[in-house]
Amino acid sequence: MTEVVNVDPVRPNHADIARASDCLRRGGLVAFPTETVYGLGVHAMDRAAVRRLFEAKKRPANDPLIVHVASFAEIAALVTAPPRSAALLADRFWPGALTLVLRRAPSVPDEVTASLDTVAVRVPAHPVAHALLAATALPIAAPSANLFSRPSPTLAAHVLEDLDGRIDMVVDGGPTAVGVESTVLDITVDPPVVLRPGAISIDMLRAIVPTVQYRAARAHTSDHASMPSPGLLSKHYAPRAPLTIYQGDAAAVGEALRQAARSAAAGGQRVGLLVAAEDSSLVGDMHDIDGPPVVSAILGSHGDAEATAARLYAALRELDGSHVDLILARDIVGDHGLWRAVADRLHRAAARVVVVSPRIG
Ligand code: AMP
Ligand code: MG
Repeated sequence: MTEVVNVDPVRPNHADIARASDCLRRGGLVAFPTETVYGLGVHAMDRAAVRRLFEAKKRPANDPLIVHVASFAEIAALVTAPPRSAALLADRFWPGALTLVLRRAPSVPDEVTASLDTVAVRVPAHPVAHALLAATALPIAAPSANLFSRPSPTLAAHVLEDLDGRIDMVVDGGPTAVGVESTVLDITVDPPVVLRPGAISIDMLRAIVPTVQYRAARAHTSDHASMPSPGLLSKHYAPRAPLTIYQGDAAAVGEALRQAARSAAAGGQRVGLLVAAEDSSLVGDMHDIDGPPVVSAILGSHGDAEATAARLYAALRELDGSHVDLILARDIVGDHGLWRAVADRLHRAAARVVVVSPRIG
């Protein structure tokens, strides 16, 4: 049985946090909210417990975990010879949605790092995560609290959807604010490389370390062995129904989505549309089809990266919950800020991309 503990997200009850932290100290698996997504926490130095976490998530052993600590000072026990940029970046962005990859200390279990010679560390900002780390006084390895390759959880209900009965406890502190996982920055290399985009954008990082680069595009592959960051498979965060992204001129994409949805529905398929608020007219247009109803999940508005990030995974799970056969989405073009992270996750969730050419004349 998985116990659910409801806490106030701003001022979590001391006794509830103590129960969760006792469970962690004994090697239990405890899901809790962070400002990015829900994490599944485990005592990072307890190898057997870490192995149970991989089993619970059905996560491949070569996908390393992020170790969460209460403050920058606590990474000293986990890393060796951190570069000067570690302190500068931590000073600016911790607590917060930035994960730093550093050289590991020998004491960090291989199970946590997937036997790499580096370890990923972060100080989360969410009051519940912070209270839990402070009460536990241990480094807590915490990947996202979903089954491997499913959309990450932004609500306790998503955690239970995937992991009920497989973990000990869920601390329910309501919806997570950011909605996509932390930015992962490797500072063991020079120049430092962003391995995963997140809410802390490359421009924000460059204000502290001007040389920061994105990881080379060729690393964006499904070939596990050649990955700089083994968990960064191209297919990830996926809904059960295959997701197709339509890319191209805005009006042409609107028309292509309309036609694809209508013809799939007329052919008897349950269609899910994942669209921005501005596309709701498209959805209103589907009522006259002779076939199963077209279901929609609305993201934020086109201009609102924060709302779109916060909605993305919940929207994918809602469509799965409606038992759709396929999902059609308008592409999100992300070249800056949080849009980059949202576009990255949408593309990893996708089964295919259709490029729509604008109609001539
Ligand atoms: P999750 O906690 O589920 O968001 O996944 C953590 C991700 O962080 C992994 O899938 C990796 O992509 C990345 N990561 C963790 N540790 C390392 C590391 N030592 N080197 C590079 N990337 C890492
Ligand atoms: Mg994950």
